Amino acid sequence: MAAADFSRLIAAAADTIAAHAEELTALDQAVGDGDHGLNMKRGFEAVRAEADAFAAKPLPEALKAVGTKLVMTVGGASGPLFGTLFMALGKDLPAAPDRDGLTAALGRAIDAVAARGKSQPGQKTMLDVLQPVYEALAQGKTAGQIADAADKAAEATVPMKALRGRASFLGERSIGHMDAGARSTALLVRAVAEAIEGN
Ligand code: ADP
Ligand code: MG
Repeated sequence: MAAADFSRLIAAAADTIAAHAEELTALDQAVGDGDHGLNMKRGFEAVRAEADAFAAKPLPEALKAVGTKLVMTVGGASGPLFGTLFMALGKDLPAAPDRDGLTAALGRAIDAVAARGKSQPGQKTMLDVLQPVYEALAQGKTAGQIADAADKAAEATVPMKALRGRASFLGERSIGHMDAGARSTALLVRAVAEAIEGN
């Protein structure tokens, strides 16, 4: 991937997180501690600040650098999990991935997140968006269809009961709210899908 394209992906991700920070905060306030919007904004602005240096690296190294920066700056439970996602993608992606390479790397990155979080899909977390995105990618769906699948998956966390993270402390009372990390994941998926499609 050209450096300019990677810089554009970072800008698109940071832009959508910044534009939706208050919404993410409100979602996390309902069932958590209300820091998710600020956590994600801090992390993605830190990545944006070094976008050009990251983009100059080969794609696997660039993704690892993004993941490391997210671990250092996002904080909360989600920082190490998003960090793991990007670091694992960097570990598994070839320098010029095709769709199959991307699908396989995402599958392994999801496994890494699940291992790190001791979690699995169905527990009202970011994994409930990542898994359907992986499936849509594997089924050959278009970028737009994948972004729509991510939004739908985030919506589908509303009736779920949280079994991981702070929201799980609320038990049944976590039902009826969208998971903040699922929403931020869907925002990132749409930003990346639209940036790639616009190429
Ligand atoms: P914290 O919960 O420490 O305040 P954040 O508010 O930044 O951290 O992130 C919360 C989000 O992290 C949740 O909405 C959920 O999607 C995700 N999350 C939390 N714990 C886990 C876990 N064990 N596995 C997967 N995702 C998790
Ligand atoms: Mg929180």
